[in-house]
Amino acid sequence: MKTFDVDLFVIGAGSGGVRAARIAANYGARVMVAEEFRIGGTCVIRGCVPKKLYVYASRFADEFQDAAGFGWTLPQKPVFDWRKLVDAKEKEISRLSAIYQTNLEKAGVKIVQSRAEIEDAHTVRLLADGKRISAKHILVATGGAPQLEPAIPGLEYTIDSNAIFDLPEFPDRLLVIGGGYIAVEFAGVFARLGAQVTLLARADNILRGFDNDMRSGLRDEMQHAGVKFIFGQTAQRIDKTPDGLKVTLSSGETLVADQVLAAAGRVPHTNGLGLEKAGVDLKPNGAVKVDWASRTNVPSIYAVGDVTDRINLTPVAIREGHAFADNVFGGKDIHVDHSNVASAVFSTPEIGTVGLSEEDARAQFDVVDIYKASFRPMKATLSGRQERVVMKIIVDAKSDRVLGVHVLGHEAGEMAQLLGIAVKMGARKADFDATMALHPSAAEELVTMRTRSARYER
Ligand SMILES: Cc1cc2nc3c(=O)[nH]c(=O)nc-3n(C[C@H](O)[C@H](O)[C@H](O)COP(=O)(O)OP(=O)(O)OC[C@H]3O[C@@H](n4cnc5c(N)ncnc54)[C@H](O)[C@@H]3O)c2cc1C
Repeated sequence: MKTFDVDLFVIGAGSGGVRAARIAANYGARVMVAEEFRIGGTCVIRGCVPKKLYVYASRFADEFQDAAGFGWTLPQKPVFDWRKLVDAKEKEISRLSAIYQTNLEKAGVKIVQSRAEIEDAHTVRLLADGKRISAKHILVATGGAPQLEPAIPGLEYTIDSNAIFDLPEFPDRLLVIGGGYIAVEFAGVFARLGAQVTLLARADNILRGFDNDMRSGLRDEMQHAGVKFIFGQTAQRIDKTPDGLKVTLSSGETLVADQVLAAAGRVPHTNGLGLEKAGVDLKPNGAVKVDWASRTNVPSIYAVGDVTDRINLTPVAIREGHAFADNVFGGKDIHVDHSNVASAVFSTPEIGTVGLSEEDARAQFDVVDIYKASFRPMKATLSGRQERVVMKIIVDAKSDRVLGVHVLGHEAGEMAQLLGIAVKMGARKADFDATMALHPSAAEELVTMRTRSARYER
């Protein structure tokens, strides 16, 4: 029987790879993981974690303003120091990265700091020293990378979401290109930290795929926070001028910014990985094609997380990595359920969502009832802030089952996590109605919406 150097070779020490490596090692597998950048991956180093820390930083701006309505006088205008925030963030992500590393080492996983590429179904080559490692199983967990398309003249002057975290200087004028959640989150952060922010999107609104009321509601809130939107246009070229980066739009109009963040999307990180050489099937966008058990068409090669482009979120990558290790090394038969995954946009205010949008529900179900509330949050009464909370429950009228819940408001992400339990359990609208309100809270509106706003029949 052929012997291998390791039982499992994991490419990429991000959310999915780290979890899979650790669990497989706990089952007694000999595991090696290669990481070309920093242990922890996108989420810890340049995604969810630093992003949320910056969101917290940005929200103090609102708190300082709102305090006056509650009797506070600030002795002087608060001053923000970008360098201090970047340094504090760096300290925290280094701490987390070290924890990930220690946990892997404690489990007996061998970590190699190198890019790894696949040579064939059972061989991986380490670029750092050229060594070849044979593995019984290979797990591709290389995540995604910012998409740098379309290639317009001057694209090299833009920065991506990786670079924006560590800018040496705070950009007083920021142009964000893109309308997805990453673009929206950074636009909100930098506007509150004091930049003049313009968001440029090809579409006619932000956040394609989210419920339309959430999209429009958040767009309005962001406008109140000073973000300027340009929709239905694209950047045609970028020129470096003494005054900053001059961006020419499809309309011919120009605008000048200190930094241009290209955040129009992410692509699976499979370029040059050697998957084609090993015969692994890819989707047209380069994502690795896998079945329910994260198996590729090559029996020894598996893939989890963003590189498979299923649901590109950290908890999903972790769950897929864990299930892979349980199934392959623990003899289990775990199916990861990708339905009703709660998610949030960490804008200010946040969007928290689980289940179907109104648009998707109406396309899939015969009769759909909509319950909707829009109200001023209590805190805004004294602060005077112009702000609305929007909540929506989407119900299958035939079964009374709640198909989706969407919230635009403070802590909507926290609400969505808990709403996710109810929706996952198959809650009916009657269950929401039977639940006693918690007062005074914004979330109580979710259990007190009695009047249907609309019914749609297919
Ligand atoms: C700005 C931003 C904000 C985000 N915010 C959220 C959020 O709030 N909530 C959420 O759930 N998700 C968020 N995400 C998404 C989340 O980060 C990803 O879904 C998650 O990290 C996917 O995990 P993964 O294991 O698939 O890949 P990753 O975490 O990306 O890990 C892949 C690792 O593989 C390494 N690698 C790649 N190729 C090779 C190679 N050939 N050899 C060696 N190493 C390699 C990379 O360096 C990386 O460390 C955010 C992403 C971004 C960019």
